[in-house]
Amino acid sequence: MGEFELITNYFSKAGSPRTDVHCGVGDDGAVLQVRDGYDLVVTTDTMVVGTHFFADVDPRALGHKLVAVNVSDLAAMGAEPSWLSLALTVPVIQPDWLSEFAAGLHETAEYFNCQLVGGDTTKGPLSLTMIAKGQVPRGKAIKRSGAKVGDYIYVTGTLGDAALGLRLVQGVQQVSKKHQAHILQRFHYPTARVALGQALRSVASSAMDISDGLAGDIYHILQRSAVGAYIDVQKLPLSQALKDSCDSAQAMQLALSGGEDYELLFTVPDSKRGALDVLLSPYGVPVTCIGRITGQTGKLELKAGEQVFSYQHKGFEHF
Ligand code: ADP
Ligand code: MG
Repeated sequence: MGEFELITNYFSKAGSPRTDVHCGVGDDGAVLQVRDGYDLVVTTDTMVVGTHFFADVDPRALGHKLVAVNVSDLAAMGAEPSWLSLALTVPVIQPDWLSEFAAGLHETAEYFNCQLVGGDTTKGPLSLTMIAKGQVPRGKAIKRSGAKVGDYIYVTGTLGDAALGLRLVQGVQQVSKKHQAHILQRFHYPTARVALGQALRSVASSAMDISDGLAGDIYHILQRSAVGAYIDVQKLPLSQALKDSCDSAQAMQLALSGGEDYELLFTVPDSKRGALDVLLSPYGVPVTCIGRITGQTGKLELKAGEQVFSYQHKGFEHF
């Protein structure tokens, strides 16, 4: 099998063909029709073997995760996911691996109503780059820069599960049988909070998705918005699986600094908190208020009962 057969066999299948794709895989470029009155939102995420995933990971899960982490960025902007491109680098053509990877990619793309519209295929150390494109009503994208002093800070879902999943996969931590499936699911098959992200357009002053851990990621909002924040660590939403698998100090540490949960972190002004409760009810995603925005630019404080600590940022950075 050569490069072009590979593309035809695995990547040119139109999972859920969209009527706004006038030209997809097979030409020099894709031709995509952006809806009238909408802005185009574009994001890119790369996953490199050894850095983002283990070489022996289930390729189907990998295909899923590549789509989910990209779509999660669109969700955080309040955008509706539409189109995907894939830059794939593989050392050799392994049909079984590619077929599973493509299946995971296409099924997740279909789930989010996205279509793969192009890409590039090269030989080299295993590396996956996806570009996701979405649409948002003009001017309505939720940015990191809109948080204001006094806004309430919220997160979706539970935090720390993916980090525990990583520890389980690495064999450095035990998780009881009854919780293993949930924890592995959270690590290998993260969800992107797409519907919720779009609903937040009318209430959130800022938003982002948590990929590298809450405490590190929130700094991006603090810096872009020129504000500070406090987080009440006793309010951090923890799954039963996490609580049963860790002592409270470790649970808190994983929830604060563990990466890859892909939950949304967002801020809401006091005047919109009532609207938020009403708006959230159809989504069935738990949302927890964990703190407030303060006027101390760039400063994150952690509260536990009466105690307040200043948090020293040690989030993950590649270099
Ligand atoms: P070009 O040389 O003009 O850049 P290529 O020969 O690299 O085009 O690719 C042929 C077609 O296949 C293009 O439409 C491209 O978008 C698509 N394509 C290449 N690799 C992938 C991939 N991994 N996934 C999806 N589409 C791909
Ligand atoms: Mg060309």
